[in-house]
Amino acid sequence: MRKIFVFVERVDGEAHPVSWELLGKARELANNLEESEVWAIVLGKECENVCKEAISRGADKVLYVKNDQLVEYVNYKYKKVLVDIVRKYEPEIFLIGATLEGRELAGMVATELETGLTADCTGLDILPDKKLLAMTRPTFGGNLMATIMCPEHRPQMATVRPGVMRELPPDPNRKGEVIVEEYSIPEMEKFIEILEAVPLSVKSNLAYAPVVVAGGKGVGGPEGFEKLRELANLLGGEIGASRAAVKAGWISDEYQVGQTGKTIHPVLYIACGISGAIQHVVGIKESEIIVAINTDENAPIFDVADIGIVGDLHAVVPAITSKLKAMKGEVRK
Ligand SMILES: Cc1cc2nc3c(=O)[nH]c(=O)nc-3n(C[C@H](O)[C@H](O)[C@H](O)COP(=O)(O)OP(=O)(O)OC[C@H]3O[C@@H](n4cnc5c(N)ncnc54)[C@H](O)[C@@H]3O)c2cc1C
Repeated sequence: MRKIFVFVERVDGEAHPVSWELLGKARELANNLEESEVWAIVLGKECENVCKEAISRGADKVLYVKNDQLVEYVNYKYKKVLVDIVRKYEPEIFLIGATLEGRELAGMVATELETGLTADCTGLDILPDKKLLAMTRPTFGGNLMATIMCPEHRPQMATVRPGVMRELPPDPNRKGEVIVEEYSIPEMEKFIEILEAVPLSVKSNLAYAPVVVAGGKGVGGPEGFEKLRELANLLGGEIGASRAAVKAGWISDEYQVGQTGKTIHPVLYIACGISGAIQHVVGIKESEIIVAINTDENAPIFDVADIGIVGDLHAVVPAITSKLKAMKGEVRK
């Protein structure tokens, strides 16, 4: 049996959504790889619910390394455990979420195992003849897509950003096995000691928002984003931004959409004053409906938009907002 490992990252006792997205993808890969199994890798303590959910999300087996020392993420300890586990179980493929934690961990594990790692993949597939993992990611500043293979080393490793792959709906009737791994962490030199854990003040839930109203250089300044925020709030969504707007200092980089920002797939994406550079479009092309508002009728954003409005966003956005408010008011009456 060929094994596909998926690292399950935990945040506050729950799995990070990217772990379920990767399990969904791993299931698809397993179907094309033949004679293969999807393994979820869980590290920590009191993770029984996470293990159960991993099975409902597509894992055939869950390898649960239960240990007091793995409750909190500490890079050199997690790396040691993952490297030892890979050496013991010899997976063909190892997928890790491209979160802050996952990016660091994947690089450390791949280096120690002397195998290849393709970071920030946007597509994963199995080559039908060679049964190799084809890992696709943007390259040359997003102007080309490169498909990378790792034919000579194992495991074939890839990271994928949150929101890029689709998770499977949980199936509580799925059957699987939880293997509790007896693993005692060897005495190691203490490189890092956690004194206190302070949660990040994450303001944006951009990667999973159903509606995103995004602004670019055409917004004209930080105050321009207030109009966008009002519309986003009305639609139950989030605001987003192009890199140009972020670089101008008008909005924080956690709102950036695109190749070096977030990949999103909302039901509705409204691009306001965004030209539609390839590096931006690569992050929005999975949106169900794209609306573009731009003064330049030749802006490339109109090539990917389902609905295009040629006009000044400072007039168009408030007009949409007031129309929506009026409609909501009418519904309430
Ligand atoms: C390696 C690399 C990675 C990158 N990663 C990203 C990324 O992740 N995300 C990203 O966005 N970019 C990224 N970029 C930058 C990208 O190439 C573009 O420079 C950027 O997306 C342009 O932002 P913009 O559309 O806001 O600005 P501009 O290209 O300056 O476009 C502004 C648009 O606003 C319109 N406009 C002006 N005034 C108004 C108005 N009043 N009403 C309506 N429309 C108006 C203009 O017609 C124009 O089309 C990357 C570039 C590189 C090289």
